[in-house]
Amino acid sequence: MTQQPRFHFRIEATDGKARTGRIAMRRGEIRTPAFMPVGTAATVKAMKPESVRATGADIILGNTYHLMLRPGAERVARLGGLHRFMNWDRPILTDSGGYQVMSLSDLTKLTEKGVEFRSHIDGSRHMLTPERSMEIQCLLGSDIVMAFDECPRADRPMAEIEASMEMSMRWAQRSRDAFDAGGEHAENAALFGIQQGALDESLRARSAEALRAIGFDGYAIGGLAVGEGQEAMFATLDFAPGQLPEDAPRYLMGVGKPDDLVGAVARGVDMFDCVLPTRSGRNGQAFTWSGPLNLRNAGHAEDTAPLDERCECAVCGTYSRAYLHHLTKAGEMLGAMLLTEHNLAFYQQLMAAMRKAIAEGAFEKFRVDFLSEYGSTCGRERATTRGKQAPS
Ligand SMILES: [Zn+2]
Repeated sequence: MTQQPRFHFRIEATDGKARTGRIAMRRGEIRTPAFMPVGTAATVKAMKPESVRATGADIILGNTYHLMLRPGAERVARLGGLHRFMNWDRPILTDSGGYQVMSLSDLTKLTEKGVEFRSHIDGSRHMLTPERSMEIQCLLGSDIVMAFDECPRADRPMAEIEASMEMSMRWAQRSRDAFDAGGEHAENAALFGIQQGALDESLRARSAEALRAIGFDGYAIGGLAVGEGQEAMFATLDFAPGQLPEDAPRYLMGVGKPDDLVGAVARGVDMFDCVLPTRSGRNGQAFTWSGPLNLRNAGHAEDTAPLDERCECAVCGTYSRAYLHHLTKAGEMLGAMLLTEHNLAFYQQLMAAMRKAIAEGAFEKFRVDFLSEYGSTCGRERATTRGKQAPS
């Protein structure tokens, strides 16, 4: 029996800065560029794990912050680890908890040692350090562990962003040391470092240099998608991926909209995660090749067309926009389930189309064609071509 390597990234084709390849890990292979559905609290909301897999996902993301508070990392470990607990046997990436402590909790103290905070659930006090974050991700049994970092808002003064980045790099070394002391887990899992430095090229270069000196299996681009807007994000992605090692995966955290993904892949990013397809599905929004659709819109009330004519998902093969409009308007949970399933399937079809275009050396044509169809209706509704009018 051949055993899968702990972590091996192979780039199979490049086209401009875009790359496509595979990450081989013990629990399975991850095709890149990859989109990771977010399974915050040991569930991709409104989806069974087998349905998540059926959309084409190779890996999902779990949140350290949520899981440490409820049900607790030690409890998950006693129950056999996160994979067994939630019935997902493929790779799981866990974030470090750092970002969500800053954004969700009542932060009480930030020091060199770590962060003290109060739970957003019950107000209980907790401490998260690089060492504790590594311990929690080990208890969960994560396949890709993220270094513990601080993510300041991009609009903070430059001196503050610089000091924060430097502390995150010291935390990256402490994360590396704690991860490596993790015994059997360290022999089977991978550790990613996180580049910081907001929108500044020289800070990003210094951060990348510090991470390369420590050495990681993959490198994340942190501190983006925090409200800076697509133009500023793309301007940063014009240089940030190139500062990171060529032969390791590059992961853009918390991104994004379909057009964000296409623009980031064009700039050399290999991995993504975002709550958008799942959260939007619960809010009555569907992504299509012609742009987003709001199913609450009365224009869909008697529309017999599927969400997307080209989508290959089971929802589009079965249900009409009219039915999904009705479910959404009535607040039926099946509406959230079906729209989530379609959105995740659409995102995976988008990633597959990008992988194919890169392999064929046709990514630039794909990007231009995609934007002309998707971008022209971005944020607006497009009337469907059939069954759009109710008899009056
Ligand atoms: Zn669909």
